[in-house]
Amino acid sequence: MVNLSTGICARLQTAEQTDLDLFDGEHILQLLSVKHVGAGNSTTGAVERYRIILSDGEYFLQAMLATQLNGLFQDNSIQKNTIVKVTKMTCNFVQGKRLLIVLALDVVEHVDQKIGNPASYPTPTQEVPATTTNDMDAVPSAPVQQASTSSSHQTTSTAPTAQTAQRRPAANGNRPIYPIEGLSPYQNNWTIKARVTQKSDIKTYSNQKGEGQLFNVTLMDDTGEIRATGFNQVVTALYERLVVGKVYYISGARVNIAKKQFSHLNNEYELGLEKNTSVEECLDTDNLPTIKYNFVALSDLESQPKDSTCDIIGLVQAVGDVTEITTKTNNKKVTKRELTLVDRSEYSVRLTLWGKQAEEFSSPDSVLACKGVKVSDFGGRSLSVFSSSTMVINPDIQEAHTLRGWYDNQGKDVTYSAHQSSGGGAGGGGGGGFVRKEVRSLGDVKSSQLGQGDRNDFFCSQATVVFMKPDSMWYPACQKPDCNKKVVGDDAGWRCEKCDQSWPQPQYRYIMTLACSDYSGQAWLQGFNDVGDMIFGKTADEMFAIKEDSEIKFTELVQAATCEPYNFLCRARTDHYNGQPRVRYGISRIQKLDYKEEAKYLRDMLMSPWGQTAVAVAV
Ligand SMILES: [Zn+2]
Repeated sequence: MVNLSTGICARLQTAEQTDLDLFDGEHILQLLSVKHVGAGNSTTGAVERYRIILSDGEYFLQAMLATQLNGLFQDNSIQKNTIVKVTKMTCNFVQGKRLLIVLALDVVEHVDQKIGNPASYPTPTQEVPATTTNDMDAVPSAPVQQASTSSSHQTTSTAPTAQTAQRRPAANGNRPIYPIEGLSPYQNNWTIKARVTQKSDIKTYSNQKGEGQLFNVTLMDDTGEIRATGFNQVVTALYERLVVGKVYYISGARVNIAKKQFSHLNNEYELGLEKNTSVEECLDTDNLPTIKYNFVALSDLESQPKDSTCDIIGLVQAVGDVTEITTKTNNKKVTKRELTLVDRSEYSVRLTLWGKQAEEFSSPDSVLACKGVKVSDFGGRSLSVFSSSTMVINPDIQEAHTLRGWYDNQGKDVTYSAHQSSGGGAGGGGGGGFVRKEVRSLGDVKSSQLGQGDRNDFFCSQATVVFMKPDSMWYPACQKPDCNKKVVGDDAGWRCEKCDQSWPQPQYRYIMTLACSDYSGQAWLQGFNDVGDMIFGKTADEMFAIKEDSEIKFTELVQAATCEPYNFLCRARTDHYNGQPRVRYGISRIQKLDYKEEAKYLRDMLMSPWGQTAVAVAV
């Protein structure tokens, strides 16, 4: 029979958290019990968890099985009396109580009975009546909860008291406040002191059990943010009570693994608000959590990648009407409203609100601080408040007061710059020009599905012409300026239907299909007369004549013109070919590379952090 690692349980019961030799060491232990605690729940996303009792033959102690090991129990790899080699553990202290979690183990062998006659470890810190397994079953995922009724352990404990309780002293009665950052499914009996920074509308859903309601809020303290969701009767109980901007003591909620598809918060857990969740408004006036912003000046939005999120503060200069649009993805009607924000960088930007927030917005001329708004490249740069964004109207923060003062004194007379669209925008003919810093790779253009919507999408690209379709590079066109219609030869010459006129000669005009490549991929770009003029440096009439004269000379010119890089302004749009939609890329502008501009662009890119540092030092 295997030798258990005698003495380990005693060490585990007294070790410091930092004793990595112990927690990362290999220990042969016997499982005296594996208990399922807390039912998994597909509605709330709760995860199954198992509590185990480990024995070294001399003493036993309780631990939790990390959820990634749940499969070991579910497929019977471990059961009562299994000998295991524990290879990684971690130790948390929750309000002075020790909580061991087994992160990794190997099965050694299954035996029929308990080895030795292990006893509960005799220490004041041993707070859980480990042998009363009924209690364990009664309290899901709360290995320390029963113990809170015992008073002896906290004063006499040899274990370090909870770090968090030391850092954030009891703020309300004797309630230790737990940091949001430290919440995990392995702790219970915590209270957080959190500000509600965002609250959703009440949403309805239906599944096989019927109809239901839910809402969610974002809770924030100085250490982090967490999303909390309530269903059905919790909606009734808590939706009205939780007010955006107010601070609450919250306890008795379930900590679940975050469903990342619904949340952009930086927290791997989320809270499930339950019937017995306690929510109590905090009426203190100091020590309240404040939202931490990292404001980006509106003038600097171009440096923010498309679809990223950022924090901004701006003054509402214009409030648009509420409009209703139908979403392309699920054909749902949603309301939206556009605000125009300005700031001290003397830039303005559009910010879109959605749903109830759009309908209820009634604060013109206010200062808006927004956390986690989404950056879009529509119209150059624009912003969108989405479900996990936080928007505070006239926040009591220094930046807001400064902006208010500046605007009232001088800002209201400023002519604000706007971010420029790289193209003509909706329905435009590509009125914008090529903008070097808005260049997008062809791979990005394709993966972003540009042109798949209802309207044209414009983009800048820098790519090399690698191939030109040689046939039908031009067509015979009407001689009348700006007509450009194709003409057909007949007895009377070349006839234009549109002008109802015949010409002795057509004017040839280019119509080119170019395979263009950059580092990320290749795309077929289509161009008209100006593109051919640029590529060949000759008119289509001239090229037509050369080809008539010498096919070899023509081929040489095509080869010479291939493999040249250009700056393109392109338009992406969907058309239909044989009934199938396909995205086509048309060239609105073509320019030779300006190497002086290229060098300057690279220099600016290299310089920018240092430039900012220099400014900061000078100030
Ligand atoms: Zn014509």
